[in-house]
Amino acid sequence: MARDEVLDQVRVHPGDDANLARRDPREDFGWDKESAKAETAELIGRLTELQTRLAAEERQSLLVVLQAMDAAGKDGTLRSLAAGLNPAGVRVTSFKVPAGRETMQDYLWRVHAACPGKGEIGVFNRSHYEDVLVVRVKGFVPEERWAKRYDHIRHFEQLLADEGTRIVKIHLQISPEEQAKRLQDRIDDPTEQWKFRLGDLDDRKLWPDFMAAYEEAITRTSTDDAPWYVVPADRKWVRDLVVARLIVATLEAMDPQVPAPEDGIAGLKVPPL
Ligand code: ADP
Repeated sequence: MARDEVLDQVRVHPGDDANLARRDPREDFGWDKESAKAETAELIGRLTELQTRLAAEERQSLLVVLQAMDAAGKDGTLRSLAAGLNPAGVRVTSFKVPAGRETMQDYLWRVHAACPGKGEIGVFNRSHYEDVLVVRVKGFVPEERWAKRYDHIRHFEQLLADEGTRIVKIHLQISPEEQAKRLQDRIDDPTEQWKFRLGDLDDRKLWPDFMAAYEEAITRTSTDDAPWYVVPADRKWVRDLVVARLIVATLEAMDPQVPAPEDGIAGLKVPPL
């Protein structure tokens, strides 16, 4: 399927419901694995060139938000993208349970501080969406507080967009069956056990509540300037290709321009010492 068609299909258009229950985490768009991997590698190469232009231009920022259930592949997605990115221009932030000063401030404080600067790409591994996902599901704050956050988040993201940040929000969608398989693999492999926490099973039991929270968060915060994309993630090679296409298409649309050289550079010879 053509690039734009797939991206249109995974995009949650403003005003539409996320419709998570009707989306298939095993979707493969009729691709075959070998050519999908080859296309991903090609796109990752293109990413390098686009990032160089973005950094040289120093006028716009790109923020990529990754949200997903445990074992859906946030880290794997990041690794796949990282192969094409210069770390000097990337800010990756993993958001954990708030601690210290973070607990004394409003929930967007730490998020705003982690946003990419001009010329940078920011990647959020989890994000401010935790404050309407896990916080809502586990009842960490009363409903009258989290219910107002969808509006805060829309306004906050609009501020970022108005000031030059392009925002792409990705929900990696896995099935509960695939999650069970991946968690079991972690438990069974001593070299992977460190990735598993007993609490992961508590979150898994709350799957329907998390899905309801994701459905509402995505539906209410997918906007023209900060759209959500629901990426099928049961197959890692599908996930990686969709994400690579999305990031490359976004940077292409941003069309960063290398600044013009100073006058007098053309034809200049470096003098011998
Ligand atoms: P990950 O699962 O992302 O690889 P961890 O195992 O360290 O990393 O999990 C981070 C934990 O922090 C998750 O359980 C997540 O739900 C939690 N978390 C992140 N942001 C918040 C928040 N704002 N409030 C409460 N918990 C949060």
